[in-house]
Amino acid sequence: MSNNYDVIVIGGGPAGYVAAIRAAQLGLKTACVEKWVNKQGKLALGGTCLNVGCIPSKALLESSEKFVDLLEHGELHGVIAKSVKVDVPKMIKRKDEIVKQLTGGIEQLFKANNVDWLQGHGKLLPDCKVEVSGDDTVIHTAKNVIIATGSTPIEIPSAPLQGDIVVDSSGALDWESVPKKLGVIGAGVIGLELGSVWRRLGSEVVVLEAQDTFLPMVDQQVAKDAQRTLKKQGLDIKLGARLTATKVTKKSVTLDYQDKDGDQQVTVDRLIVAVGRRPVTDNLFAPETELLLDERGFVHVNNACETNVPGVYAIGDVVRGPMLAHKGSEEGVAVAERIAGHHAHVNYDAIPSVVYTHPEISWVGKSEEELKASGDNYKAGVFPFVASGRAKAMEDTSGLIKVLADADTDRILGVHMVGAATSELIGQAVMAMEFEGTTEDIAHTVFAHPTLSEALHEAALGADGRAIHIANKKRR
Ligand code: FAD
Ligand code: AMP
Repeated sequence: MSNNYDVIVIGGGPAGYVAAIRAAQLGLKTACVEKWVNKQGKLALGGTCLNVGCIPSKALLESSEKFVDLLEHGELHGVIAKSVKVDVPKMIKRKDEIVKQLTGGIEQLFKANNVDWLQGHGKLLPDCKVEVSGDDTVIHTAKNVIIATGSTPIEIPSAPLQGDIVVDSSGALDWESVPKKLGVIGAGVIGLELGSVWRRLGSEVVVLEAQDTFLPMVDQQVAKDAQRTLKKQGLDIKLGARLTATKVTKKSVTLDYQDKDGDQQVTVDRLIVAVGRRPVTDNLFAPETELLLDERGFVHVNNACETNVPGVYAIGDVVRGPMLAHKGSEEGVAVAERIAGHHAHVNYDAIPSVVYTHPEISWVGKSEEELKASGDNYKAGVFPFVASGRAKAMEDTSGLIKVLADADTDRILGVHMVGAATSELIGQAVMAMEFEGTTEDIAHTVFAHPTLSEALHEAALGADGRAIHIANKKRR
């Protein structure tokens, strides 16, 4: 293996492995440094997303949703399943198998694209050199280095992790039995998704969230709708409840928390700590490189993902912006293309976000609260799924789609959804925004009937008071 590369990527998650593959596709001699050891004790590519993040969580969300759907809605559809049971170890095994296939797939893609996998810990040295410490320590040289070392769960002193009783998001993906009573700290994306998995499988779930607002980054009409539905499902979400201490015994965890009424206590069998993630920069660079971090510990970059060190870029969770796999991948592609001399950019205004609960909460662009705060002259169209024929046929009518557009130019500024399959529907809104579309563009688009996507059409029509399947307040 040569020690000289055009590009060395440190980190093989969705930001880093995508950057490496794109760089290699463009004819650059590329290596990727990765040290992840999976639960089978083997080195693996794919980072958080494939090993303990997006993919395994979605595998368990899918399995648990199948169970609860059959259990709770089977009879309604005339499907009588005599005894619906859960085999948790089998669910976990299926999840592990998917992870194995997908991480192995990245290894194959590296081979097919001639990306060298340098196994070990990567450290940036001056002059674009990278020290890789694995079985031995080797110094490699590159024309460009891309840092993609990702993020890791934040630990808080009030809830130190303990065995399989107090766990972070990774631990909560491996329980082989259902806790009778489960506590979740943090009603963010990860807390809600993992709380949902175990609620569906039978846990009584209490979620403590320090902030008073539910999902403050989401349009509040959508967030409130989602909160109501999740509550109906039995997720006991306590807002304005800050965890202050935990006491762990062999079998239970007592949570001390404070809310507006003072000191409170609740006892659970197991606890998931999901209070956010921090960037990974541990032993990442020699001080002589003078790589700058920002005040929150992220690698400092400009809009083009350039760090302050010439030839060194940083992408994904280790830099500012939403901690999302697709955001990191897009940055990876753009950086690889720029290194190869192409023009490339990431449209940070059109990055979708999804909470994969049921109903799914999906959004892109500005919320109504943000538009109000910035004084924008906007218009809004809302369409509830209860008026959708397809949603009725599915017996899945909760939620709505909201389209926000500039009142003068009609350009779409944000789309917010809560409902079944909105993680798929949001792509249509992202595309419309990427093409700088207007509500008129969506109005002119023909959507298949009956589909959930018709609700996007109707919400866009609704922005001008001309939705068909709902009584309009304003007319045009
Ligand atoms: P990572 O995936 O964290 O990868 C970084 C890699 O760098 C790791 O493999 C690490 O071993 C390696 N590394 C670090 N330091 C070094 C070093 N010095 N030398 C060598 N290697 C190093 N996002 C979504 O978009 N959709 C979802 O549905 C979603 N679900 C999630 C569910 C959970 C439970 C969690 C925890 C996260 C989820 N995320 C989701 C977030 C997503 O996983 C991250 O945004 C994404 O993985 C970030 O990609 P990355 O490549 O920047 O970093
Ligand atoms: P996210 O960053 O989206 O994963 O969400 C993490 C959530 O955890 C945030 O909404 C925080 O407000 C919440 N959080 C952080 N610390 C605590 C705490 N001690 N008690 C309750 N909630 C917390």
